Amino acid sequence: RAKAEGRGGIRIFEAEMDQRMRARLALEAELRRAIAAEVLVPHFQPLVALGAAPGGSGRLIGFEMLARWPHPVHGLVPPDRFIPLAEETGLIGPLTRQLLRRACRAAAAWPAPLVLAVNVSPLQLRDRTLPAMVAEALAESGLPPARLEIELTESALVENFDLARELLGALKALGIKLSLDDFGTGYSSLRHLRALPFDKIKVDRDFIRDMTQSSESSKIVAAVIGLSHSLGLPAVAEGIEDAGTATRLAEMGCDIGQGWLFGRPVAEAEAARLAAIGPLPEGPARLAG
Ligand code: C2E
Ligand code: MG
Ligand code: MG
Ligand code: MG
Repeated sequence: RAKAEGRGGIRIFEAEMDQRMRARLALEAELRRAIAAEVLVPHFQPLVALGAAPGGSGRLIGFEMLARWPHPVHGLVPPDRFIPLAEETGLIGPLTRQLLRRACRAAAAWPAPLVLAVNVSPLQLRDRTLPAMVAEALAESGLPPARLEIELTESALVENFDLARELLGALKALGIKLSLDDFGTGYSSLRHLRALPFDKIKVDRDFIRDMTQSSESSKIVAAVIGLSHSLGLPAVAEGIEDAGTATRLAEMGCDIGQGWLFGRPVAEAEAARLAAIGPLPEGPARLAG
């Protein structure tokens, strides 16, 4: 078969490679320009209290910032499409700096004690300038450090554990909080939980999505919530899409929820509007509506 395709096949293959390479280079150049022009924007997704206490369910406690690239041709490009590219091309530092600054400025205008959670790339746990970048964003915006949380996935911690620990210590010394994101996927080393100063654990969306279908997922979620609590940390569930799952999680004692049930990621102005409405004692319906 290879023989039958002969040189023609190889030529087609090379042409495809060439095309893909060119598309990638073009996208990279576009991303570079978009970052220079500060075109990328923070969007914000509600974080709500799931507590069984009266009024606990659906009360807004803050937002997670999720980056978006408004693109003239491709529309609102999601982070999975450009964060890896930014990481590969050394653009992740400048991108994080400008998104963090904008998000902190937005959050400083929300009523206290609403919090802002920001994702930081694993690569930046090798960057010694990270704590200074965060300190600068806090100082410039006036956002109290206790209202900023940095979310990290475990892949951030495996490569250079000692440097990662040092940088996490420096971040904590600023007075901010640290969340362990997407727990249950990747490495999930319990050593990380023991040795590093996390304040929260976020259960990965994969388990939350499968909870109603799979008793295994449900048991894993319950176990992670139990693990968090035994370490004295609140548990967060991401990707809650239906009321049944939210109720189950509240029964399991999960403290905080996030998902389309409560609200999708929204632009800065809409987040400000939701923040001003403030705590929502009547439950998720008002947020979703
Ligand atoms: P993540 O930190 O785990 O964020 C949660 C993701 O789940 C977000 O996807 C959010 O939109 C999505 N999500 C939340 N609730 C639901 C739900 O009920 N159903 C479904 N289907 N999805 C839900 P998004 O915005 O596409 O972000 C994907 C990932 O990209 C994030 O995962 C985070 O790891 C990364 N990311 C986003 N913004 C940034 C950023 O500014 N910097 C860095 N380094 N990474 C970022
Ligand atoms: Mg996150
Ligand atoms: Mg997550
Ligand atoms: Mg996730």
